[in-house]
Amino acid sequence: MNQNRSSWALQVGTVAGIPIRIHLTFLILLLWLVIGSESGHAVHEAIFVILVFVCVLLHELSHSLVARRFAVQTRDITLYPFGGIASIVSQPTPKAELFIALAGPISNIIIAAGLFSWVNQSALENQQVDAMTLIDRLFVTNVALALFNLIPALPMDGGRVLRAVLHLMNVKRATRIAARISQGLCLILAATALYIEQPMLFVISFIIFFGAVQETVRSEARGIAIAFTVAEAMIPRERLECFTHGTTVSKALRTALTSLQPLYPVLLGEKVIGIVFREDILEHAATQPDEYVGGLLIEECPSIDSTEPLSSAFTILEETGSSVLIVLREGTFAGILVHDRVSDFLLLQGIRDRYSKDDDAEWSTPL
Ligand SMILES: [Zn+2]
Repeated sequence: MNQNRSSWALQVGTVAGIPIRIHLTFLILLLWLVIGSESGHAVHEAIFVILVFVCVLLHELSHSLVARRFAVQTRDITLYPFGGIASIVSQPTPKAELFIALAGPISNIIIAAGLFSWVNQSALENQQVDAMTLIDRLFVTNVALALFNLIPALPMDGGRVLRAVLHLMNVKRATRIAARISQGLCLILAATALYIEQPMLFVISFIIFFGAVQETVRSEARGIAIAFTVAEAMIPRERLECFTHGTTVSKALRTALTSLQPLYPVLLGEKVIGIVFREDILEHAATQPDEYVGGLLIEECPSIDSTEPLSSAFTILEETGSSVLIVLREGTFAGILVHDRVSDFLLLQGIRDRYSKDDDAEWSTPL
């Protein structure tokens, strides 16, 4: 299936209306720690990991709840072994971004401060790992989480703070400058990791490095997207292969084998009742050739009017996690907008702009 929300994450509940998901690799890590530790320590280790998990969750919830104060919605919170990600739907204003970014590390500082009076200080000062209690380890973890997230490198919280401050100081190209600083810092971090022989830190510095690149591309794409309408980036109805709801899988296969379209609208009259993905047709062709394509349908496909700005399409795609939008012109089916192709479209426009406009053009986030 082509729904681009990772199916590797399990939803475990909702807090304050925000879905909380756990990535399967996190559970694998938990299992690995429990199995890998000496007998007797297994339960102790598992409790520690779960408590760390709660701290990371509180960190992400702090981001989300402050975001909500600024009317920025969170689609979901996913917890990975390396930390959490709160997927915020739209780009906040610089002031909002500053507060949202600071909220996470501040929550860890508050937790650490709360634990401080129970901490066995001599164990910490002498770095006696064996003598450290669960509270000591949680204290150290929260201090580390706060400090690590405050590294001024995108996409870390510190990088967002840096970008927000640059924006507030009216610095042009704030994202790009913040990303350059981030990349510089990552290289220093990677070199340090090599020097002190910490392979994990080396890997992390590269994850942040590519995160910064991705963040710049995303932010520039949004900036460019304001200038275009949905109609300019969509695949128009005339150039689309469509199926009717009565098309069989075997008949659809013939089309799927000759066209490169990744997905097909399924029509009832002139109304789109859903989308069928090419890979689903190929997958079911052998086993269910006489079924109707209607059975493979993804029904809840969001729609957008062709005159809307492309940036609104981005927001809907991110809000719904869908990979495609149905485009309507005065209420009738006019074409589709595919997420990947929008990104390609914007990339090409960005390259064109780079060569035609003066060098001062700012593609920062829409504010
Ligand atoms: Zn954070």
